[in-house]
Parts: sequence; structure tokens; C-alpha cells
Amino acid sequence: MLDDNSGAAGADAIPAPGVLTVDLGAIRANYTRLREIAGSPVGAVVKANAYGLGAERISKALFDEGCRNFFVAHLGEALSLRSNLPEDATLYVLNGLLPGGEGVCAEAGIVPVLNSFEQIDAWAETAKGLGRNLPAVLQFDTGMSRLGIAPEERALAAERLRSAPIDIAFVMSHLASADEPSDAQNASQAAEMVQAAAAFGTENICFANSGGIFLGANFRGALARTGIALYGGATQNGGESPLRHAVELTLAVIQTRTVETGARIGYGGTHVAARPMRLATLAAGYADGLPRSLSDRGAVYCDGIRLPIVGRVSMDSMVVDISALAEGRLVLGSHVELLGSHQSMDDLARDAGTISYEILTGLGSRFARIYR
Ligand SMILES: *Cc1c(COP(=O)(O)O)cnc(C)c1O
Repeated sequence: MLDDNSGAAGADAIPAPGVLTVDLGAIRANYTRLREIAGSPVGAVVKANAYGLGAERISKALFDEGCRNFFVAHLGEALSLRSNLPEDATLYVLNGLLPGGEGVCAEAGIVPVLNSFEQIDAWAETAKGLGRNLPAVLQFDTGMSRLGIAPEERALAAERLRSAPIDIAFVMSHLASADEPSDAQNASQAAEMVQAAAAFGTENICFANSGGIFLGANFRGALARTGIALYGGATQNGGESPLRHAVELTLAVIQTRTVETGARIGYGGTHVAARPMRLATLAAGYADGLPRSLSDRGAVYCDGIRLPIVGRVSMDSMVVDISALAEGRLVLGSHVELLGSHQSMDDLARDAGTISYEILTGLGSRFARIYR
């Protein structure tokens, strides 16, 4: 479909400026592969609308593949997924609750991560008010200084929870450098995680993210939480996905033109044509999540041929050099590949000076979406 001149056909009645294809089969296969590698249960991280790809469709597909644990960042995300998933799926809120969210969370049977004494105390109060125990995950900070109980507070947290009507399903922590396997911070965090779990008297450890699964048995725990690897992103900095790519994105051509040597291209005229060039203007820009840092960097592909981005990325469009293609190959409505077999999300992220996570979560709502 990538080189089809009517690439948007079948997506929507109105021709779309771009077509985002999410391969649910690849995501399911990646899930099963991650579970094999981990050798223990694996949960799916579907926060931020499953990294921008569609949390409802993806969490349903993963449930059918056997996934029963789903992680989001916010209570609102969990509530909107709750009715989408069968009863025996458990939803966890990684950021924990903001004051006032406890009642709704308990009512919906959603499991918060408790990151601080404030969150522990508020959850305990809610449980007392309801006259029953409530479930939670307890997070320890093992060296990231972001969320969780600090090392010097471990004993106090354990004591506080012994008398609270809270059932701790897992103790958890988060790896700061899992994408850098040789970083000593990984081993240090693993050692801290073991100590925290021991202080708490449990072996129910929820630790590894996508990268963590590939770091070895010490990092996996009883339940992993994987996001990017499910969707086909690399788990190591500078690497490529060890699993299947699940995302394709094509962009529509809205105009082609020929320019003479010296023509200035795009805002600010930053790109000056060094020779006569043929150009195509594409129907997506930074409002669609294509970073402005791709200005004069990066490319799209057609028939496997690299078409460099020239000049600045605009809000709703950008210009590529199509001189390498036969004249007439691209016309109004043709589609070119931004993400696909010639360019991965990690390739694009490198050109943009960012990471695949930011590319995916930034992809805009103006593209047609196809689930395969
Ligand atoms: C986002 C997130 C994950 C998932 O990380 P990936 O690298 O995408 O697998 C896991 N745990 C926590 C706490 C997170 O915030």
C-alpha cells in the first residue's frame, strides 16, 4: 500500500492526509515473544493511548493474547479502559492517585501504585471508610529519584502498611537506564529492588520495562511491564527493535513542482536549491507530531528511494526532494512512506534527535487509522 497512488483508499470516506496502520497481529506476536523471553507474566503498558496507537484496540487484542495486567499513567486513562476490558483484567495506575481520586478508583476496582506516604495514607483512609481492604502496588525508588519510597523510608513504609487495610499485590520499581545495558546503574537498581522486597517480606516484584526484560533474570521479577517493545521500538539506545515492527505511516502528496537553482524552500528560506530540483509537498507537519527538528534532516521513502526533507517542517506540511524519482511518479494524492519497511520509528527518532516514545506519542489525530 505504500506506493499506491490512492493510498488513503479504504481508510475513510474523506481522503486522509496520512494513514497510520497499526499491526495488531505484530503486537500480539511481540507480546507472546516477550512472555517467552521473560519466562514470567508480562503486563502491557498502554498509557498515553497505548503510546498514541490506540489503547482500546490494543488492550483488547492483548487480552485475547492472554494479557491480564494493564498499566496506565493516570486514573482517567484507567477508567476509560475499564469497561473496554473483561473483569479479570487488572488495571494499574502508575502515577498513583491525586487527592480526590481515591473513591472513584476503589469503586472501579482499579489498582493504584502508591508512591509516597501521602498516597499510602489517603488509600488507607479510603479503605477504612469502605470497611474493606483495598489492593495496591507499592513503589520503591531504587535510584531514579522520580517516584517511590526512598531507601531510608523503607522500614517506616513497611511498618505503616502492616497496620493498614491495604493488600500489596506487588512491590515495584523502575529502571532508569535499561536502554543502556552496560550502565552500572542497572545492577545497582536490581540490588536495591531485592533489598526493598526483602524489607517488605515479599517476592512479588514488578520491575522490568521492555529494556529490563533483555537485561537478564535479575531484572524480570514476577511481573514485567512492557510498552515500547510491544509496538516495535528498540529496547537499547542506538539499536533496533528485537521484535516485529507494528507501525506504518504514509503521508499524502498535495503538490509537486520543479524549482531552479537558487530557489528558497520553506519558512525562512533556509534551504536554497543548489541545482534544479523536483519537490513534493506532503500533507503533514509538526502539528501531526513530525518534529520541527526534522527540518533539513531525515527523509521519507518511495519505491525504496530516499527522499530528503528540505527546508523547515511547517505546521501542516513539509517539502521533500523527489529529484531521484522518475517524473510523474508522484502526483496529487500519492502516498510516501514515513514509517515502514524502509524507515523504523527509531530511524526517524534519531534523525529528529529524540526517542521512538516521543515520536509515537506525538503522532497527531489527523491521520486515518487502520488496524490490521
Ligand atoms: C512507561 C513505563 C513503563 C514502560 O516502559 P517501556 O520502556 O516502554 O517498556 C514501565 N514502567 C513505568 C513505571 C513506566 O512509566
